[in-house]
Amino acid sequence: MENSAVTVAVRVRPFSAREKAEKSLQVIFMNGQETVVQHPDSKQSYSFAYDFSFCSVDADDPTFACQQTVYETLAKPLLLRAFEGFNTCLFAYGQTGSGKSYTMMGFEEEAGVIPRFCQELFSKLASMKNEEVKCHVEMSYFEVYNEKIHDLLVTREEPNQRRMPLRVREHPVHGPYVAELSNIPEWYGWLELGNKQRATAATGMNDKSSRSHSVFTLVMTQTKTELVEGEEHDHSITSRINLIDLAGSERCHSAQTTGDRLREGASINKSLLTLGKVISALSEQALTKKKVFIPYRDSVLTWLLKESLGGNSKTAMIATLSPAGTNVEESLSTLRYAQQARTIINVAKVNEDTSA
Ligand code: ADP
Ligand code: MG
Repeated sequence: MENSAVTVAVRVRPFSAREKAEKSLQVIFMNGQETVVQHPDSKQSYSFAYDFSFCSVDADDPTFACQQTVYETLAKPLLLRAFEGFNTCLFAYGQTGSGKSYTMMGFEEEAGVIPRFCQELFSKLASMKNEEVKCHVEMSYFEVYNEKIHDLLVTREEPNQRRMPLRVREHPVHGPYVAELSNIPEWYGWLELGNKQRATAATGMNDKSSRSHSVFTLVMTQTKTELVEGEEHDHSITSRINLIDLAGSERCHSAQTTGDRLREGASINKSLLTLGKVISALSEQALTKKKVFIPYRDSVLTWLLKESLGGNSKTAMIATLSPAGTNVEESLSTLRYAQQARTIINVAKVNEDTSA
């Protein structure tokens, strides 16, 4: 068993065309682990410290953090832990347009965490082929939209066909899981399909991607057969890797300020709102060292992420930011949220299973 705090990184993206056109000032600055916000109106400055502060504003800056840097620093350590048999989780949090999907998925030439993670995991497996350890990986990819789960790896003839939502079940040992989700033993091509489905589903519902959470999961089982007193015993270790692109964080506040929203709006916010409550309850628990009730069951996302948050997992978070003064209030709120997440303590253990 290993106690470990959630690793928290923040990343600030380049100016968008719109922010440039508005001549918005840069208000987020980074120096080592530190992130400083200079409020454009009050002129006050706010300083925060994280495990990593990635500045991706200007590619000519010597401290510029590219996709490779973010992957190597934040995600690769999780890959190594996964090979040791730990559950791992990385989630991206931030306002819409701040760079969550860019960081997690990216583009072909600027591949993000998920494709890099898969690339490295599967090439590691290929190099292990001749060793006595047998490795099996299953991948799944789903989204939570309006508190309903949709499989992104099921091909649909009709893109607009209504998709049947999937259910959450609970396994007595491994905890909550999505029932009847596709589990695919390779990644190439499938990831593309999942992303395409996420995009196709978005047409017609203007800002769906800002309202949905996407969860990419790899379950890796390594089995070693050992001879004990002439008998063969299988010893296996399993790790579950969750890579999550959350809904836009601005959804969270709008739900807090207005009681009567459209049902859709209200329940979309539910997972994000509950995530905030879970994080603050876990943070309180870690700070007071007293048992606090954690409302995991209040939303689909937090129920499915139960182990990743305060449970059996090595967990990291990346909070993404716009550099611009026009977004300063959202950025401050993201930075505070990230600071709170940093106090959470997880208790990770190797998931072992020994059978004759
Ligand atoms: P989100 O998923 O948080 O809504 P996106 O990842 O879609 O935001 O980013 C919004 C826009 O900004 C996209 O066009 C994306 O390519 C661009 N972008 C975000 N982060 C970066 C970055 N670090 N470097 C270059 N472009 C970025
Ligand atoms: Mg996105």
